[in-house]
This record gives sequence, C-alpha cells and structure tokens, in this order.
Amino acid sequence: MTERVAVITGGAGGIGFACAERLAADGARVAIVDLASDRAREAVARLPGGEGRHAWARADVTSASDVASAVAHVTRELGPASLLVNNAGILAPTRFLEIAEEEWDQVVAVSLKGAFLCTQAWLPGMLDAGFGRVVNLSSSAGRSVSTIGGAHYTAAKAAVLGLTRAVAKEVADRGVTVNSVCPGLFRTEMVLGTIDHAARERYAASFPVGRLGEPEEVAAVVGFLCSEDAAYITGAAIDVNGGDLMI
Ligand code: NAD
Repeated sequence: MTERVAVITGGAGGIGFACAERLAADGARVAIVDLASDRAREAVARLPGGEGRHAWARADVTSASDVASAVAHVTRELGPASLLVNNAGILAPTRFLEIAEEEWDQVVAVSLKGAFLCTQAWLPGMLDAGFGRVVNLSSSAGRSVSTIGGAHYTAAKAAVLGLTRAVAKEVADRGVTVNSVCPGLFRTEMVLGTIDHAARERYAASFPVGRLGEPEEVAAVVGFLCSEDAAYITGAAIDVNGGDLMI
C-alpha cells in the first residue's frame, strides 16, 4: 500500500495508534484524526518519518463541520485518502436504568454518527479513484453484548455492523470494500480505565486463549483488510477476541 493515504479516527488511542503504526509500516502515509490534539501530534511524531510524511488533525467525529475541516486539511497535507479506519469510540459502563439522555447520545454518536460522517466525507474520493478500504471498529459487544460497557455501547456497536453492511452493498462494484472488526477485550486506556486489575484477570481467565488482546492484534487484521489481498471481503465482521465468542 505504498503511498496510499490512510485516515485513522481516534488514532491517538490504543487500537487506533497500533493501526497507524501497522499501516505506516506497510507503506501508507497516515493521518491521525482525534479529539485530543496534543496526543494526536505526539502520536504522529512517533511514526517512522513523523510529521511531514504523516499528518494529524483535531476533530470531533460527531461534528460534520469538524470532519469537513479534517478532510480539507488531510487532503492538503497528504492527498486524497483511500483507507479509512473508523476507530474513534467511547465506552461507559453505566447500567441501563441510569443512562442519562446526554450520555446515550454521546456514546452512540462517537461510534455510529462518527463512522457515518467520516465515511460519507471520505468515500467520494475513493469512488473517484476506483479503490478504497473502510474498516469500522465494532466490538464483541456488537455481535453479542458488552462485557463492561452499557446498553448504549452495545447498541452503537451493533448499529456499526448494520452501517457496514449497508454501505458495503452500495459500493461493492466500485472497488471499495467496507468491513467491521470486532475486538473482544484489549489492553488499552478504554479498558484499563474502566475495570481494575482483578476484574481484567478474571475476564482473561474466562477466555479460551487465556489473556486480554494486544492492540497490535487488531491492527494486523485491519492491515490485511486494507490490503489489495482483501478485495473479495466486504460487508464482513471479523472477530478478534481470543475465542471469547465463537459465532
Ligand atoms: P482508547 O480510549 O484508547 O482510544 C480512543 C480514541 O478515540 C482516543 O484517542 C480518543 O481521544 C478518541 N476519541 C474519543 N472521542 C472522539 C471523538 N468524538 N472524535 C474523535 N476522536 C475521539 O480506545 P481503544 O480501546 O483504542 O478503542 C478503539 C476502538 O475500538 C473504539 O471504537 C472501541 O469502542 C473499540 N473497541 C475497543 C475494545 C477494547 O477492548 N479496547 C474492544 C472492542 C472494541
């Protein structure tokens, strides 16, 4: 994928940054789009080639105007993107009866509306080029029910699977694939900040593989889905969960 441009939302975080490293190692020029501008800048500096070869943009993926500005900036810096990883997401463990309307909207918006807005913004360039790869971060939550997140998180991640299939079907004959990746429980800030060490150990022991996943293990699948070799995979949901769910 030499010289392809890859956009990774939430790329300053655990799984997003692992995807950035992976795609950069595979030859792509990477744009990290994240709400946290300082961390996005630092993340780009850690990629081989740093800023100049890669780029970053501050954007809230739930804001159409932020996304439009990010598209303009990334296109100016690196050119049109052909790889998009919709990875930004937030998790809240709130039990159903306690979920406030605002929290519901926020959790659903970052995963679902973010993927909608970013895909709608970057897809036309892919269609023009006749090549594109969109990878959406769903979750085991979307396939079944979240281990640590609330109903809003599970609902959002299930909806991401529907969005993936619908867009995949519309663009399948134009060189663009759209797939979801469904991680189980991974060692990132999202998980470390939600459950303590003892709970993590309990979950790890309950998984057939016997441990939590590492972000690079999601990135490897994302890297493959972004490659030319994955041209015949679209509308799919790929589980990466150490055997926790076998569907
Ligand atoms: P993380 O918290 O480490 O990183 C998330 C990143 O998203 C952060 O850099 C954050 O600043 C950014 N972000 C949050 N809200 C944003 C917004 N509105 N606009 C732009 N950026 C925003 O999380 P992670 O564990 O790396 O998760 C990445 C994705 O993988 C998420 O979609 C998450 O739901 C999904 N996932 C994670 C796990 C896991 O076990 N860690 C499991 C299944 C799915």
